[in-house]
Amino acid sequence: MAFCGGMIIEPKIRGFVCVTAHPEGCAKHVEEQIAHVQQQGTIANGPKNVLVIGASTGYGLASRIVAAFGSQAKTLGIFFERPATNGKPASAGWYNSVAFEKYAHNAGLWAKSLNGDAFSNELKAEAIRVIQESMGKIDLVVYSLASPRRTDPYNGTTYKSVLKPIGSSFTGKTVDTDKKLVTDVTIEPASQQECDETVKVMGGEDWKWWIEALLKADVLANNVQTVAYSYVGPKVTWPIYTNGTIGQAKVDLDHTAQLLTHLLSSKNGHAWVSVNKAVVTQASSAIPVVPLYISILFKIMKAKGLHEDCIQQIYRLAKQLSKNTPLNLDNQNRIRIDDLEMRPDVQAEVATIWEQINTDNLSALSDFQGYQTNFLKLFGFGLPNVNYSADIPSHVMESQLA
Ligand code: NAD
Repeated sequence: MAFCGGMIIEPKIRGFVCVTAHPEGCAKHVEEQIAHVQQQGTIANGPKNVLVIGASTGYGLASRIVAAFGSQAKTLGIFFERPATNGKPASAGWYNSVAFEKYAHNAGLWAKSLNGDAFSNELKAEAIRVIQESMGKIDLVVYSLASPRRTDPYNGTTYKSVLKPIGSSFTGKTVDTDKKLVTDVTIEPASQQECDETVKVMGGEDWKWWIEALLKADVLANNVQTVAYSYVGPKVTWPIYTNGTIGQAKVDLDHTAQLLTHLLSSKNGHAWVSVNKAVVTQASSAIPVVPLYISILFKIMKAKGLHEDCIQQIYRLAKQLSKNTPLNLDNQNRIRIDDLEMRPDVQAEVATIWEQINTDNLSALSDFQGYQTNFLKLFGFGLPNVNYSADIPSHVMESQLA
């Protein structure tokens, strides 16, 4: 990075995060997703007033884009992002949201964002105030938070989530994305407290508190739907995911969906858990084992013409939620949009490659290159038609939400 009038912004990767983000690249990334939705066409009978909690990146951002550009919905987006400060660029989710609002407003769509802690009572109250003043009753609530910690607003305690196995330690293959090394990683099992805290952060309690607050304020429409996102994936990731601490939190999410469906019966509403496919997001890059699995999965799904990112997944989900296509439910009543990832032929090939993969054949046997390209894209780097050697003027770097 160098100052000369404006500022050139380059990726600065620290472990599994990139601490810089490119405003124009992030805008292009949002634009690409909008273009995908517009190419696919309008979703008939889609929601009209949508609240997205965790709306700035990954699956939540895609949910907001599909609601707005697929169904012309008003969207209220909630997220926790960092604006530019002291010459440092804002976070990617901030720039994504600035760009989203601009494109939505240009298209004549109402869009407002609240940047703050979604777990707090204050933010819930602020969201309800905005809904009452400017939106009309909400017909879809998307709950797409991924957070390493949560402060309980009633007792003030901050809980931390961990990505650990339960019961016994786990050793498995992983890729050091910085050094491009495939190694074995051993992760010690979580304590009962770590397990409980992960459920507290990533389970369903806060989703429930949101829905209860919205119901109490009478801002939910008849036939309202709410959806939270989960993951299942293949056996190689189960010790760290499905059977690990995060998996416990997802079980709690499943229970919460049942409870919320009951709670929403007065509105003829429904709470869903949607099981989504593995994609590269800031949340998934932090999970051991998963980036290597995704690199292999991408290679296979691309070769079979099945590759999907967040936007393709959520467009398909939106068609199911608005009953344009039948709901693809499993025996636990969860919506499965991970159907292509979990196809037996795809998973058989993953399993074969998983046995063989090592540092030397990483590029040949997986789409690690694609993983890295996708990762950089999350922060607005590597997009076509962006001049990365140009100075970013300070008013762009410090751009504000509307
Ligand atoms: P992400 O990191 O891209 O997005 C997380 C969002 O949560 C961001 O908008 C962020 O600003 C917001 N957020 C975090 N803490 C917050 C707080 N305290 N207050 C307000 N906003 C806050 O994550 P993602 O991968 O899109 O994950 C979203 C959901 O999808 C999670 O439940 C995740 O488990 C699930 N999921 C992810 C994958 C995957 O492969 N990435 C697969 C299936 C399901």
